Amino acid sequence: MKALVIEKNDLRHNIKRIKEFINPNNNNVKIIAVIKGNGYGLGLIEYAKFLIDNGIDFFAVASFDEAITLRKNGIKEQILMLSSTADPKEVEELIKNDIILTIGSKEAGIVANEVSKQLQRQVQIHLKIDTGFGRYGFMYDKPEEIINAIKQFTNLKIVGTYSHYSVAFAKNANFTKKQFERFMEVVGILKQNQIETGMLHICNSSAALKFTSQHLDAVRIGSAFLGRIIVPNKIGLRKIGYLKTNIYEIKELEKGNNIGYSNSFKTKKLTKIAILPCGYSDGVNVKVDKDMFRLIDKIRYIVHETKGLFQNQYLYVKINEKKCKILGRVGMCHIAVDITGKDIKLTDVAQIPINPIYVNSNIERIYN
Ligand SMILES: *Cc1c(COP(=O)(O)O)cnc(C)c1O
Repeated sequence: MKALVIEKNDLRHNIKRIKEFINPNNNNVKIIAVIKGNGYGLGLIEYAKFLIDNGIDFFAVASFDEAITLRKNGIKEQILMLSSTADPKEVEELIKNDIILTIGSKEAGIVANEVSKQLQRQVQIHLKIDTGFGRYGFMYDKPEEIINAIKQFTNLKIVGTYSHYSVAFAKNANFTKKQFERFMEVVGILKQNQIETGMLHICNSSAALKFTSQHLDAVRIGSAFLGRIIVPNKIGLRKIGYLKTNIYEIKELEKGNNIGYSNSFKTKKLTKIAILPCGYSDGVNVKVDKDMFRLIDKIRYIVHETKGLFQNQYLYVKINEKKCKILGRVGMCHIAVDITGKDIKLTDVAQIPINPIYVNSNIERIYN
């Protein structure tokens, strides 16, 4: 018995807080819910339906499969495909399924334009401007190329124009500010050239929380719905998601026994442990590798790890509302936790705090 549990109350709370924060006076900033990556791990379809029940009517996804899967499962709301594909077969399928396309290059636009002519259907698109991320998008500093490309998109209707921030989460806002200015400048030039830009959007979760003056017509919210943000949590978002598992074995180890791979942990006294059938293959203690390209990142990493050591931060799970420390290394499918002196039985259930995004998509999701 293993499942990712999503507390509906907490998720509802987060959605409500975000809505209130984005639209304090009903000022009509559209909230686009980004549900890429299996809905940040919450389960694409279940999560989409939950969001709809809570008033969300606009989604964004990053892959062809996610867009089509949503439609196949009866999701009728607006869906923006965030990736700019130039694959004619994919584009055709997306258009047939009424997905709003992102067009980030002349080539992608020409493909969409051709397919749209063949299907005799006008296609809704959002233009993507690269203001310094270095991924999809027309370069902000070559507006004449954008204008010339758009002239060829006779069958495409621009219903939105957007860009994406690369460091909105950082304390230093200089680059984000620069990206915003670059974006607004391009938008200005497009308008001067009588090009309809449609709805404008640039903020992800971090930017939406930090820079209210940049909300424009819409914000794209992903991680904030899960309460997993790295900017200050000033609106009281709650962390969503924990892994639930039963206990497979309980035993006592005398002082001096080893626990786990690498013999990195030895018991210092008589220790009672519980073995849980979860490990990093389920997403336990999986972290994204730190960037180590720049010297400053290496130094930051060392400082962070050293701080953690002194503050005695450890990984824990909860059993019967009691915190139990994880002992030894996390294995692929198992962990051992310290239950010394605690009234814990084989029939009890353990809760492991976890970021849902890392939880294997074949593990059941339970909306509790
Ligand atoms: C993932 C993504 C988002 C959402 O980012 P969060 O920080 O999770 O809110 C917004 N826009 C684009 C283009 C994305 O790829």
